[in-house]
Formats: sequence, structure tokens, C-alpha cells
Amino acid sequence: MHMDELKKLTTSEKRKSLFLEMGISTLQDVVMHLPYRYDEIEECFEDDKVIAEGTVLENAKVFFKGRLSRLSVKVLIKNEEYTVTIFNRHFLRQHLSLGKIVTIIGKKEGHRITASQLLLKGLDEQKGMHSVYSLKEGMTDKMFSGYVKKALSLIGDKLEDFVPLDYKRKYGFKDKYASLMKVHFPKNKEEMIEGMKHLKYEEFLKFQLTMQYIKLEREQEAGIAKIFSHQEMNAFIKTLPFKLTIDQQKACLEIFADIEKPAMMYRFLQGDVGSGKTVVSSLALYANYLSHYQGALMAPTEVLATQHYETLKSFFKNTDLSLALLVGSLSIKEKEDIYEKLEQGEIDIIVGTHALFQEKVNYKNLGLVITDEQHRFGVRQRQALKNKGKNVDFLLMSATPIPRTLALAIFGDMDVSEIHSMPAGRLPVKTKYFKGNSMKPFLSHLISYLNEGGQVYVITSMIEDNEDYPLKSATQVYDAMSRYFKGHYQVGLLHGNMKEEEKRQVMNDFHDRKIQILVSTTVVEVGIDVKNANMMIIYDAERFGLSSIHQLRGRVGRGGEQSYCYLLSNATNKEAIDRLQFMENHTDGYEISQYDLEIRGPGEVLGQRQSGVNQFVLGDAIKDFDLLRMARNDAIEMIESYYKYNEYSEYLSVIKQNIKTGNEYVD
Ligand code: ADP
Ligand code: MG
Repeated sequence: MHMDELKKLTTSEKRKSLFLEMGISTLQDVVMHLPYRYDEIEECFEDDKVIAEGTVLENAKVFFKGRLSRLSVKVLIKNEEYTVTIFNRHFLRQHLSLGKIVTIIGKKEGHRITASQLLLKGLDEQKGMHSVYSLKEGMTDKMFSGYVKKALSLIGDKLEDFVPLDYKRKYGFKDKYASLMKVHFPKNKEEMIEGMKHLKYEEFLKFQLTMQYIKLEREQEAGIAKIFSHQEMNAFIKTLPFKLTIDQQKACLEIFADIEKPAMMYRFLQGDVGSGKTVVSSLALYANYLSHYQGALMAPTEVLATQHYETLKSFFKNTDLSLALLVGSLSIKEKEDIYEKLEQGEIDIIVGTHALFQEKVNYKNLGLVITDEQHRFGVRQRQALKNKGKNVDFLLMSATPIPRTLALAIFGDMDVSEIHSMPAGRLPVKTKYFKGNSMKPFLSHLISYLNEGGQVYVITSMIEDNEDYPLKSATQVYDAMSRYFKGHYQVGLLHGNMKEEEKRQVMNDFHDRKIQILVSTTVVEVGIDVKNANMMIIYDAERFGLSSIHQLRGRVGRGGEQSYCYLLSNATNKEAIDRLQFMENHTDGYEISQYDLEIRGPGEVLGQRQSGVNQFVLGDAIKDFDLLRMARNDAIEMIESYYKYNEYSEYLSVIKQNIKTGNEYVD
């Protein structure tokens, strides 16, 4: 195999196996194993940080205690004598003789220095940035640096390079060799950042090229067009208990067009909670059913799957399609019955959890899969799903809308449909910001509201008090409110450190109105639906992203009554206050996330979803968002030139190969 390549670096079997343990088997792997941090060596002489040059005044002494050793040596630093101690470096003794110049890194107390490092060269020779690598025991940073240098010189111009010359010029990048040198052996921080930018861009470009190419391939794929009667569809839509909103109609038309195209659909349907995505998804399922294909709707939890199932059942009650629910809690016999019916084509639409796509589940002719964002499939999983049917379309739903630019940059190859408008009759949540953290300004409203039988959410950013943060905690607010409303109203507490069972109990009590005031952290964001709760109070609101506040606020006003959201904040800076005031007169999740994106960057907007979007090794989809977006535009441009003028074919052929072998970004 590639073992031959490592041979060029070392003959030591031990070292070679260390490389393999680190996932390194080629020279390319070696040079792409980048430092995870840099130590900067700059003179410093403070108690808790010493980086200084010294002269050894007498031979070092070593003391052993079991396997541990302590080395002690007298050193002259800035014309004063210091005793330097370092542990477990007894092997340095032979080098520390009278007159030797060393660099000491550590801490001091009086004239005693405890060193973490003792370098056998003067400070001038050490100054600058030092790469620190993630390595297995037995390999040091210094050894590894040596291998990198050697590997770089061996590979030379055969380095894998994905950035065409014109794009390098566009951004002022040097060749890849130079950028790698800058990242491994930077003279200063600026140089390292410059080199890193090139490498991150390359990673993003490769990702975007892959995504764009997959999209193109999908669009050109000769699949089977699904055919259904629009007349029948319209007749069905007429049976719904309401008229579709304009945005729902538009989303449906986009989805229907995809379904009717021979190519596979891969569409992202975004819309605030309550904007009516479920209806749209059931119409997609119905179109697919009318085309004589089976459809599947997948939810992240059993509770949600059951809810969806009930909703679909009521929508489809006047049709004769057969609908089923598949969740983990069914008995083996029930499950097997469903498997059998799916395989025979006796079930038209199945709703369930990820149980839907286990290996033993076979479909007769699966044509559409709808999931929510928690199940964003990678290319490989999509491939697996595709194998469950001949002509499977995908629709992914998201209730946390993000700006289109962000969605496109991050989700690469998807098409996007958006629902902005809420169904008619829904009253926007009346939102008001108050400076400080007192309920006084709205206390009389709160009390009259409770007296009328209403229920309230109170949200805090912390669970427990923490002396480092002067913030309201859930437990503190819970205690205070319990005391205040004692004998009148029941207060409940809900937070992420509670057991699932306790949480469920509290939520049930709130649902059953045994609790009137629910003090909670953001755990309440997901999956709670209490129609009688029409007031929300958020403490330290500046601590939340606007998109989070928007999500939280979506918990109230679900029963069609006027609802209220009070934002409390001690923040004094203008930006924070502006943001909270923005919430007072904006209710469209897109506008809010667009504003958040502009003011606070993509991290704020993506919030909890950050983990899902970062499939990159070097770059960070959020911190390096601009670079990611540039790479997307460049990838689109490159692919266009490829089709028009056959340019960049060497890059595209590698991408094609990678997609085929499932190598890059296909998870
Ligand atoms: P989402 O899935 O986006 O959270 P749903 O599809 O569950 O939203 O819709 C929320 C509520 O609004 C449901 O009770 C649904 O029946 C209702 N609804 C959906 N579309 C409309 C509409 N066009 N007009 C009136 N009510 C609607
Ligand atoms: Mg299609």
C-alpha cells in the first residue's frame, strides 16, 4: 500500500506505526496534518509567565523519586541568580553545563522558576511561532516538524492542489507549497493566517465543487418522471379545512414541478413554526401517491411522528390511501406486519422515526422521503436511501429559517423553498422590551392575565446562579416566584439538568394547567405546545440570539388569542438594545435571521445547529463564512466554464472520481 511512502521518511517501524495510528499513511497526509495551535515565544518576565534567556551557572543536578525526576539548575537571568526546576527532563542534564545559553519558559516565585520547557538555544533563535501538533505519544512536535519539512521537499510540485491559478491570483494566494510552509513554519501570525486562508479556501472550494457537481448530475440524471392529475390534486386541496396561503401555494408548485421532473428532487422547505409546512408536506405526499409511489415522512421523535400521523390521518380521511405509523415502541409482530405491507405495496404513506430506513425495511416503490433538518442526509446516506427506491425525491423541512445566502452556502446542493407568511387570523405576538430585570412594568398585566386563567412561560439563560455571571437563573426565579404567588398560582421548573421523566411530568402538568407559571431554560424551545399559554417573559434577553428569541416566542399564541412577550435586559450598550427593540416590531423569522446575520454573523443565526453544519476540517463554516460563500460562487463559475469551454476539466475529473468512490464530503 502506501506504506512505501512513509518509508521515504523513516525506516523505524515504530515511527511508521505511530504515523498509521495518527491516520497518516502518505506524504500528502503528513503535510496536511496541520498544527492545531501555535506557541508564540516572545520575551516576558512576569510571575505567572516567564519566557527568558539565561546562562547556566553550574552543572545541573537531578533527583529521582520512583519513575519521576526533578532537574534543578542555577541560571543567571538579567544579572540575577535563579534556581530553575523542571520535572521529568533528566535527559537535559548532559546539556546543561556551565556557560550554556538556554531559554526558560515557565512561572516564577521570588528567585525560583518552575519551567514547563527548557530550550537549549538562546531566545533570539527561538523567537516567533512554534507549531504544536496533535500527535501520538512517542512523537514530538520537533520530530514531526522535521518529517513535514522532508515530506514537503519530497512531494514538491506533486502536492494535491485544487485551486486553479486564476483563482489563486484573484485572492493573492501563493502556490500551495508556500502556503503550507507558512502554516507549518510561520515567521509570524500574519504569515500563518495568510497561509491558512489559502488552505481553508481550498477546502471550501472542493466542497462547493462537489456539491455543485452533485446538483448538476442530479438535474441531468435520466430518471422516471412522476405523473399525477392536477385535477385530482386540486379536488383534494378543496377538501382541506382552510385555503392555502400564497407562500404555501408557491412552495407546493415548486415541489410539484420537482416531482414531475425526471430528476431527483432535493429541496429544503423553510418556514417558521406554524407557517403551515406540514400541510405542504402532506400535499407533496399526496402528489407522490397520485403518481403511484409510496411516500415516507420521518420525524426525529416518536411523539412528533405520532403527531404527524394524526395530522395526516385527518387530512387524508376522505381519500382511500392507506396510511401507517412505524415507531420503535410497536411490538415485533406489528412491525413485521408493517414491513410486509410496505414490501407488498399495501401501505401508501408511512410516518415514523428513523426506524423507517433500517436495513430490513424494504419498499415496493418508494418515491418520496420527507424529513426534518435533524436528518439532513449526506450524499452517502442519500445513496443508501436511493437504493430503497428507484426514483426517490427528497424534501427536508426546517422550522428555523435562515437567510437564503446562508442556506445555499452551507447546504450546497439543495434547492430552497420558503414560507414567509403565516396563515390568516394568526395574531402576531405583542413584544415589548424593558430595561432592567424587574417585572414591575407589567406586573399588573401579568396578575390580571393569570386571574383570567392564562398561563405563562418565564425563560432564563442559566439554570443555577453563578457568581461569574450576574444573571437571573431558573432556580432563583423559580424560588422567588413560588414565594410571591404562594397560595394563588402553581409554579413549575424545567431545565436541561433534570431527568427526562421529571421534565415530562412538569410539561404534562403545565399542559394540564396544574401549573400556571413555568420557569424554564431554553429546553422549552422544542416540542411543547400549550394553547392556553399566551405570555412569555424572557430574562437577560440580550444573552439570546434573536433567532432563538423568535423560536422561543413561537411557543405562545398558538391558540389564536392575543399573546405577549416581555423581554427584560440589563444591557446598556446600544447594539444590544437595538436588537431587542428590533424584536418589538418584527415577526418574520427570515427578516430576523437576516438582521442577526448582518449584525452578529452566522453563528448567531445557526445557533444550536452549528454542530451539524461544520463538516470541515480546516475551515469553519461560521467563522469563515465569507470565504465559504466566495468558494461557492467560484465553484459555480468553474463549473460553468467547464461546460462552456471545457476549462478546469482536470479539477472536475478528480471531483467526479471522489464522488464515485465516496471519498470526499459525501457524509
Ligand atoms: P408547521 O408544520 O409549519 O409548524 P403546520 O402545518 O403544523 O405548521 O400548521 C400550523 C397550524 O396552522 C395547523 O393547525 C394547521 O392546520 C394550520 N394551518 C396551516 N395552513 C393553514 C392555512 N393556510 N390557513 C389556516 N390554517 C392553516
Ligand atoms: Mg423528480
